[in-house]
Amino acid sequence: MSDESIGTIRIGISACLLGQQVRFDGGHKRDTYITELLANYFEWVPVCPEVEVGMGTPRESVRLVGSVEAPRMVTGRSLVDWTGRMTRYARDRVEVLKSLNLDGYILKRKSPSCGMERVKVYAESGMPAYDGVGLFARELLARLPNLPVEEEGRLNDPQLRENFIVRVFGHARWRNLRAQRFSAGRLVAFHARHKLVLMAHSQTHLRTLGKIVSNLKGKSAAEVLDAYETGFFDALRCPSTRARHANVLNHIAGYFKREASSLARQELAEVIDRYRRGLLPLIVPITLLRHHLLIFPQPYLQDQVYLQPHPQELLLLNHV
Ligand code: SF4
Repeated sequence: MSDESIGTIRIGISACLLGQQVRFDGGHKRDTYITELLANYFEWVPVCPEVEVGMGTPRESVRLVGSVEAPRMVTGRSLVDWTGRMTRYARDRVEVLKSLNLDGYILKRKSPSCGMERVKVYAESGMPAYDGVGLFARELLARLPNLPVEEEGRLNDPQLRENFIVRVFGHARWRNLRAQRFSAGRLVAFHARHKLVLMAHSQTHLRTLGKIVSNLKGKSAAEVLDAYETGFFDALRCPSTRARHANVLNHIAGYFKREASSLARQELAEVIDRYRRGLLPLIVPITLLRHHLLIFPQPYLQDQVYLQPHPQELLLLNHV
């Protein structure tokens, strides 16, 4: 499977983040990173749950009240209860979104509809809690558990942003694989290409996934694919740290220990160490390793997504 087959990457998004005037006060929450950078690479599927459920714009604002686990959505002054309507709408809307082949979703933080975490929930009495989930976000996360989802605020954090981008492109590659007729060979090749990416996130998951692809006997295609998919996205959700990346980079450098001169090996080791200590961005050791790969070709490494990410993925990772 080549990365050219990824095609368009479609991302669901809270419509106000694109500048659409759908907020309760008729305003928007345009996010410049999203509209000026990410928009060059992704196709948006904007959704405003509050407008689509029929609240209108402008409107009385809503808030979550009651328990964090099962809050109700009510308007602030007139206390109109939208819980049932919003929950039914969200279920139906997410079913439609499922058919649109999304590879990710960006939600507006703190919103009683769209917020993914830490949404304010007013208790019937006493202090509000700050660990609620918006009603639309709740359905989205429950019904599409492997979809990469982030909030716009968290995308300001370079690590979380990198993690989201890696998951989105991983999702696009996986979606392409699932769109094809199942073949053990294709799954094994997918796993082989992602080994170093997985290693940078979680060695434990890498081992578990390795067992899944090497133990296909007696299992249906759906069973195998579902198990692999869950493990793959669980792995990518684990944060890749500088220490984990340095471990992968040293592992790759080990492939050149015979051919490369001692001076070249020393330079590589220094660059990896400087990256590990936070003095260089990841793109520097990766570029150096790619250079070595041109001089000393290694088929296994040449096929690794870690060293040969999708061109657009690479451009995005340059910004983190
Ligand atoms: S946060 Fe969600 S519900 Fe609120 S305006 Fe934005 S898209 Fe609409």
